[in-house]
Amino acid sequence: MKKLMAANWKMYKTREEAAMTIAALMLAVGMPPADREVLVFPPFTAIECVSAGIGDADGYAVGGQDVYPAAEGAFTGEISPAMLKDAGATWALTGHSERRHVLGESDELVGRKTAFALEQGLHVVLCIGETLQEREAGQLAAVLARQLETGLAGVPKDVAVANLAIAYEPVWAIGTGKVAGPAEILDAHATVRRQLQQLLATGSELRILYGGSVKPENTAEIISLDNVDGVLVGGASLQAESFSRIVLA
Ligand code: PGA
Repeated sequence: MKKLMAANWKMYKTREEAAMTIAALMLAVGMPPADREVLVFPPFTAIECVSAGIGDADGYAVGGQDVYPAAEGAFTGEISPAMLKDAGATWALTGHSERRHVLGESDELVGRKTAFALEQGLHVVLCIGETLQEREAGQLAAVLARQLETGLAGVPKDVAVANLAIAYEPVWAIGTGKVAGPAEILDAHATVRRQLQQLLATGSELRILYGGSVKPENTAEIISLDNVDGVLVGGASLQAESFSRIVLA
């Protein structure tokens, strides 16, 4: 199973900046190592130029940071799977904590997005994770179970294994510089693995990424942990110099 090294550029980068960053990243990384796959989530406006920058290079892919669960229609401000694919995306991100907590998305909407994007032929990274309050209240396993159950509710089991990855991102570790410790990551990822095996027949083949203050300095340790099959990186993915070190860590 290749490790999925994913960059989430959030609401950063014009098209020119995105084109420069993907070019610099590909120059620094070259063809990714055989056990690594690089995935970049630029803002929607820069998907096309990142896709053009990647061309037919092996080991690189581009995705949308969100997607709406309808083919087309009166949904102002939203984007469809077909539009993402038209711009060159092969992946979509669903349920990022900023969508859940800043934009108020429900578990149920995240589930519809995940199912529809998969049905339309995109690969999906479904993000889940607890807040500090939930962790301190002892609700970690319950929150992850709820987010997985609702997030995967409409997903056929055979589709899930081939085209889906889960990103465990504790909300308190995102953009805060507070990385979860190895024991916390091991525990959460083992919980997610167990829950996936209960929900889907073959959860052991799904990649589970860790996200939250991943840096070049902590990547090697994080991806060596059991049940960690890649990383989803925000802040440290914006510069090609630091993200290339993460990809190669
Ligand atoms: P961060 O963000 O790496 O800046 O903590 C991770 C994410 O939001 O996906």
